[in-house]
Amino acid sequence: MASTNRVPHVVIIGGGFGGVAAARAFKRQRVKVTLVDRNVYKTFQPLLYQVATAGLNPGDVTMFLRGLRLGQRNLRFRHAEMQTIHPQENRVEFADGTSLGYDFLIVTTGVTTNYMGVPGAEQHSMAMYTRTQAMAIRDHIFSGLEQMARRNGRLQCNVVVVGGGATGVEVAGALADLARGELRAVYPELEDDAFNIMIVQRGDEVLKPFSEKLRAFSAKALTDRGVQLRFGAGVETVTETGVTLTDGTEIRSDLTVWAAGVTAPEHVKNWNLPQGQGGRILVTGTQQVEGHANIFAAGDICGTAKDALPQLAQVAIQGGRHAAAQVLKLIAGDTELEPFAYHDKGIMATIGRRAAVAELPNGIMLKGTIGWLAWLAVHVMTLIGHRNRRAVFMNLFSLYVGMKGTHQSNPIVGEVSLPAHKRARLHDQD
Ligand SMILES: Cc1cc2nc3c(=O)[nH]c(=O)nc-3n(C[C@H](O)[C@H](O)[C@H](O)COP(=O)(O)OP(=O)(O)OC[C@H]3O[C@@H](n4cnc5c(N)ncnc54)[C@H](O)[C@@H]3O)c2cc1C
Repeated sequence: MASTNRVPHVVIIGGGFGGVAAARAFKRQRVKVTLVDRNVYKTFQPLLYQVATAGLNPGDVTMFLRGLRLGQRNLRFRHAEMQTIHPQENRVEFADGTSLGYDFLIVTTGVTTNYMGVPGAEQHSMAMYTRTQAMAIRDHIFSGLEQMARRNGRLQCNVVVVGGGATGVEVAGALADLARGELRAVYPELEDDAFNIMIVQRGDEVLKPFSEKLRAFSAKALTDRGVQLRFGAGVETVTETGVTLTDGTEIRSDLTVWAAGVTAPEHVKNWNLPQGQGGRILVTGTQQVEGHANIFAAGDICGTAKDALPQLAQVAIQGGRHAAAQVLKLIAGDTELEPFAYHDKGIMATIGRRAAVAELPNGIMLKGTIGWLAWLAVHVMTLIGHRNRRAVFMNLFSLYVGMKGTHQSNPIVGEVSLPAHKRARLHDQD
């Protein structure tokens, strides 16, 4: 490869955290990069719960993928859904019947909601993995509130959140804050307890990966907000009107949010690549797919046979960059590839206004407002694209810290007032 004049073609499937990080790592390199995604935008999933609960608008948490080309001339974007890979022919095939050849392939397609085979879960609960799903939850909430307003607040909206991990805690906390704050101003017809929010968790605590101290803080912050915690039983079935728990308890629910985990999509089995636990594509320590020297994978979709790294944005970003660096080594004729070493930057979750928890690898634990500021710094400043940063920062800062209990900062009643010309940004796809 090093001796020919032909420019090598790298195809990256998936424009999420891993794919975009990999694509950027090829900037100013002598390669042709094609980034492929079934959406024209990248989704910043850690803030989807804000879209679902009307704290942010959908355009705030998405980035127009073609926009990457503005800063990287060797990159092309293709809007397509990959259907299969033909490794012997170095070719990927798309759902629209077209195909694309590659010299090197990087697969960063992420995962999807895991309904764990629970009857009725897929049909009757709402997941929050995509922008469309977050908007569906938001529409469901606000059309339900309108119904309640028509009945002069004599109804209560029962929300059951399945799963006490970061996503479940974040959506429950944000809804509770919404009910206690902005909702009172815009829905004077409703009683104070418009929402009855419950987290159902099979285990006996929320935010399991965090230390005991932070788990206790989070549970208290949730119950202080009126969120009920139902531990010790999982969800057995979901219907249109509620959930039945494994201990036989029936709970009425107007909105069931499914936040119980993720898995590799079923269709990965059609990709002719080896799969391991949870359907994740099997990679070696260097991020090469087992048995395929020129195919790499990064992020949520892959894992080694020995261990699978946590499914986090930082793992995907660092993995994407690592895969790109290994491709560049191979192009340069260097076959001594390096193993991927994940640099752990810690874990964080937001419970609500001025309440978040963060646990850093050096043992430092942050909670409350300090924890929330750390969460804001990491999520807005280092993860989200710089075009979205200012609007998201201002919206979240005023929503959570600046204007407690007022209604000036929330998209349901009025956004932070940026001049119109500054809000009309390229990435805004709404
Ligand atoms: C609600 C929620 C909250 C989260 N909160 C946090 C958090 O606070 N902190 C944290 O670190 N992590 C969080 N995560 C996890 C984090 O978002 C993931 O670890 C990260 O997105 C993984 O990046 P990735 O590149 O592997 O996949 P993704 O970011 O999911 O990107 C995959 C991309 O591939 C595209 N794609 C998929 N299949 C195809 C196909 N066949 N053809 C073409 N394109 C395809 C998709 O459209 C998508 O753009 C959260 C996840 C969710 C769902």
